[in-house]
Amino acid sequence: MHRFIDGEDRMQQALLPHSLEDYVDGENPVRVLEVFIDELDLTALGFSGMTPAATGRPAYHPSTLLKIYLYGYLNRVQSSRRLEREAQRNIELMWLVGRLAPDFKTIADFRRNNGAAIQSVCRQFVELCRRLFTGAVVAIDGSKFKAVNNRDKNYTVAKVTGRMEQVNASIARYLRALDQADREESDIAEAKSGRLKEKIAGLRRQMQAVKAMEQRVQDAPDQQVSLTDPDARSMATSGKGTATVGYNVQIAVDAEHHLIVAHEVTNQGYDRHQLAPMAFKAQHATGCQQITALADRGYFNGDQVLSCEGTGVAPVVPKTLTSSGTKRGLFTRQDFIYDAEHDHYTCPAGAKLTKAKRRADHTEDFDFYRHLSACFTCPLKSRCTPTKLRRIKRWENEDVLDRMQDRLDRMPEAMGVRRQTVEHPFGTLKAWMGATHFLTRTLDKVRTEMSLHVLAYNLKRMIRIFGVGPLMAAIRT
Ligand code: SF4
Repeated sequence: MHRFIDGEDRMQQALLPHSLEDYVDGENPVRVLEVFIDELDLTALGFSGMTPAATGRPAYHPSTLLKIYLYGYLNRVQSSRRLEREAQRNIELMWLVGRLAPDFKTIADFRRNNGAAIQSVCRQFVELCRRLFTGAVVAIDGSKFKAVNNRDKNYTVAKVTGRMEQVNASIARYLRALDQADREESDIAEAKSGRLKEKIAGLRRQMQAVKAMEQRVQDAPDQQVSLTDPDARSMATSGKGTATVGYNVQIAVDAEHHLIVAHEVTNQGYDRHQLAPMAFKAQHATGCQQITALADRGYFNGDQVLSCEGTGVAPVVPKTLTSSGTKRGLFTRQDFIYDAEHDHYTCPAGAKLTKAKRRADHTEDFDFYRHLSACFTCPLKSRCTPTKLRRIKRWENEDVLDRMQDRLDRMPEAMGVRRQTVEHPFGTLKAWMGATHFLTRTLDKVRTEMSLHVLAYNLKRMIRIFGVGPLMAAIRT
């Protein structure tokens, strides 16, 4: 092939035989993996199989299997069967594990049996990066990741009821068709009648199965049953109006370097109980006593903000705008100015709303503020309340929320920073995972899988920030 670049002849003999080292240059990320894993104290991290058995076939060292997994997750090869193949043909992996090629079952068993230890390795890497965390702003967010469980294999009360209605409607339709067929007197009608009877019998069997499932769903603690992955749950996905059967992955990302400093996997479909736990995890992981935690409205929860008080965590979360008055164009709570010194609100008409006396049987932790006369003659009343008096409800720890609002007012860019920081890692992780997201089942295993993804993400991020050589030197020191 004249004027094209020619490949090497397969039969060409080399004067000096090549070694695996010749194929892995000094800037190859596998060198970081090698150094990082070799520096770990795998026994202290809790890996099983650190002491070889006295008899039987020698086992693979846990560091070999950890290297295979970490290499796989860095290169979007997560399945144990594909990793088995890669170990046999991939020169980088051959270099990393010395041409060892465990079978897929050994590889899969390692991940299954060392979940907690693998999660510790992920935390260890973040600890290693601690010296980077000078600032202390983290962005927290959650995203729904698909489980192995198909939507059709997940049952909720609404789904079972809907299915029953469908089957009942089909039975009724076939019964009407059967009546009609019975009235006709012909061979064709007779054959049709036979087919319809079979269909009705089939639907009645389906109805029995749906009724049995209804019982299972009602007996389940959260009234939901997933057949393939029992821990997966149907969750609403924001803005799409659809539901995903999967897990809610929470991450806290450092705003300066975009490292995932903490993560968690839950099967609760909402975020409002995750602010304090994630912020504390991030605080511990970064080693910063004072951190600012940015999150979106889904995390707004008074008790969560209160839990952060005095802990060094300063949450910044916008308030939820769920007032029905807002939709009707009425003044919202934000239009009423609170005066902490005098403990009253000033309304848009300038009246001072004072605290009503608590009733003797009052058990709730909030007070009401109102003006006993101004509302009756107020010219703005039609824009304020359809009732006789406008009352403002105030939680007894509302000052905590007011302080958070102050922080947000002083940080107008906070939600922009949050979005730029935390949404990108989710997009990247989902692209790496492919269409199916998680490959394993049950919460424990999914947590391990997520830790491997997060570790791979952080490793890539650090390689990009530092470069291979400096990062290896930093790991060794
Ligand atoms: S209706 Fe009452 S609370 Fe509302 S603006 Fe008028 S005086 Fe103020």
